[in-house]
Amino acid sequence: MKYVGAHVSASGGVYNAPINAVAIGAKAFALFTKNQRQWKAKELDSKTIDKWFEELEKSKIQAKHILPHDSYLINLGHPEEEKREKSLDGFIHELQRCEILKLDRLNFHPGSHLRKISEEQCLDRIALSMNQAIDATKDVKLVIENTAGQGSNLGYKFEHLAYLIDKIEDKSRVGVCIDTCHMFTAGYDIRTREAYDKTWKEFDEIVGREYLMGMHLNDSKPELGSKVDRHDSLGKGKIGWDAFKFIMNDERMDDIPLILETIDETIWAQEIKGLYDLVEK
Ligand SMILES: [Zn+2]
Ligand SMILES: [Zn+2]
Repeated sequence: MKYVGAHVSASGGVYNAPINAVAIGAKAFALFTKNQRQWKAKELDSKTIDKWFEELEKSKIQAKHILPHDSYLINLGHPEEEKREKSLDGFIHELQRCEILKLDRLNFHPGSHLRKISEEQCLDRIALSMNQAIDATKDVKLVIENTAGQGSNLGYKFEHLAYLIDKIEDKSRVGVCIDTCHMFTAGYDIRTREAYDKTWKEFDEIVGREYLMGMHLNDSKPELGSKVDRHDSLGKGKIGWDAFKFIMNDERMDDIPLILETIDETIWAQEIKGLYDLVEK
């Protein structure tokens, strides 16, 4: 069974996210638990928390089908120690918010070397931050998102994800989220049956399917391998519908959040329905 949704707005309060998800026929969703462009956030008050559980219950969406995303400001691999620590603090704070909301996973971008240190040095700093964040919190899983490799962002190769997982002491606390747009612009083709199978075989061998804890379903404006991160609506970009048909009929993507981050939210309901229509009976 597939659980498809979108990265919905939580503005006005986190409890608005399940309301917005239900309104578009979603069975899963992603959200920011705080303003993603600011370091500081008001603590979650008891009224907000109660309302969150109330709305979540009404939505019938389970925690394992919710994929919160962390702030864009956080860089766990920052080359400057003071700034890495600031990011780590922010990240731990976000994990604690997930704990309060009883969410079991947090999606984040690995980090950027800012052309000041090597890729390997940066990956080591990210792994250090991840281990420290795991030690400081209880049970939320750290879900690493693959990236397009734009600028100095790491995570664009399966080997980067595997390198990080390998360095994490408690493997029960780590997972990955594969974004189809990022995968494609990083150079992994999924447009034909053959390409799709080849790419996922590589993923299974290098990363391991047991770590897949969510996906972002996006088409791509840029070409294969362009290393540019620009999402498009499904079927309107360079990937096309076939890849999403393969995903919707791939049982390895069962029971994980499949999240749209496509550019036109007015058609999310149609895109969700379109995806379910691709399931072969
Ligand atoms: Zn992301
Ligand atoms: Zn994404």
